[in-house]
Amino acid sequence: MATSDQVREQFDVVVIGGGAAGLMCGLVAGQRGRRVLIADHANKVGKKILMSGGGRCNFTNLHCRPDNFLSANPHFMKSALSRYTPFDFIAMVERHGIPYHEKTLGQLFCDRSSRDILQMLVQECRQAGVTIRTRHALTVDQLGPPHHLQGPDGGIECDSLVIATGGLSIPRMGASGFGLDLAASLGLPVQPTRAGLVPITLPGRKLRQLAELSGVAVQAAVRAGSVAFREALLFTHRGLSGPAVLQASSYWQPGEAMHIDLFPDGDLAAYLREQRALRPKQSLRNALSVFLSKRVAAEWIRSGLPDGPLDSLSEPQLARIVERCQNWQVWPDGTEGYSTAEVTLGGVDTSALSSKTMECRQHPGLYFIGEVIDVTGHLGGHNFQWAWASGHAAGEAA
Ligand SMILES: Cc1cc2nc3c(=O)[nH]c(=O)nc-3n(C[C@H](O)[C@H](O)[C@H](O)COP(=O)(O)OP(=O)(O)OC[C@H]3O[C@@H](n4cnc5c(N)ncnc54)[C@H](O)[C@@H]3O)c2cc1C
Repeated sequence: MATSDQVREQFDVVVIGGGAAGLMCGLVAGQRGRRVLIADHANKVGKKILMSGGGRCNFTNLHCRPDNFLSANPHFMKSALSRYTPFDFIAMVERHGIPYHEKTLGQLFCDRSSRDILQMLVQECRQAGVTIRTRHALTVDQLGPPHHLQGPDGGIECDSLVIATGGLSIPRMGASGFGLDLAASLGLPVQPTRAGLVPITLPGRKLRQLAELSGVAVQAAVRAGSVAFREALLFTHRGLSGPAVLQASSYWQPGEAMHIDLFPDGDLAAYLREQRALRPKQSLRNALSVFLSKRVAAEWIRSGLPDGPLDSLSEPQLARIVERCQNWQVWPDGTEGYSTAEVTLGGVDTSALSSKTMECRQHPGLYFIGEVIDVTGHLGGHNFQWAWASGHAAGEAA
């Protein structure tokens, strides 16, 4: 334990983790005149910002609402999200002259590069007098306040300690269990963690059947449990991915099926009857190719659907085709796990925290923000919006 005469440095606020939430928290606290240190153990801050959105950072979503989040407490995120909205973040982006566009479904991306967002946050921190240190791992010696920390250069004392170390996904980008372990060591409740927004893997036999389709994308509605997402589905060499599958993966439980509708915008039986009336000699393969793509239609025929003209189809055959296309059931044997997951589900239980400030109820002056908390967003900019909003909430209080 560091004693006061061993303390080398004093800050008002120390933020452990210089990712999306930590940088936002640091700049807001700095703007309030607090002396802030952001300490990250990686060689750079904001690595996930840089790799996000395929290098263009899907930095928020215009339609971000509490029901875009998974949490054991679906109300927890409401306060922070309502006090720092997508439009607040957009205002900062516009102030910095960063060009952006809406891709689809309210998802805002940088026109140029994710680097723009990271540079903006770092510049805001600098202007607010925040100290940022990389390759700077801290340990918590004793909680206060004042809190005593140990760093590579000696003891540090601070009034507010903010844990912003993120989730477990993509360990090679600096992810660690630091925040979760600290919470557990303090006796705080932690919801079980698992990979979310992650491709699913299929068992060998199924994979061999679908091997030819690797790389093909189709539109689909993918349901896990009672929640369905209508977006693109991508066949991969290990199973299935694409936005619809990633979204559903956060709701999928091991041992359950995923239900996939490959004709998501309509009634396939009605479509096939209409085609039969218009072009009775059209092959089923051609009729299916219109929405399934040629390769998927060919595979579906090869694996047991009738290959005749539409006017030869009996009603039971029609029913089987509809079942196969509109209620295709796959039984994943797992997911690709944290090595490719965009997020970590679960985390520090929200019952331990104030929804207004993210401060720990049992430990005054200790805050948790961002993905380390049991709040996980849907794909499409919601996870960053949670990082900004929770970081902002703590930055105003710490
Ligand atoms: C490939 C990929 C793409 C994504 N794309 C998007 C997207 O486009 N839109 C979106 O909304 N979300 C996206 N996400 C999710 C988003 O990146 C995260 O939800 C968000 O970054 C979480 O912010 P955070 O600050 O809580 O954690 P992070 O951004 O992960 O930051 C945590 C920081 O803590 C540091 N750290 C960890 N352990 C320690 C320790 N012991 N000591 C010191 N520092 C430590 C890490 O080095 C890191 O800098 C993506 C995620 C991935 C993996």
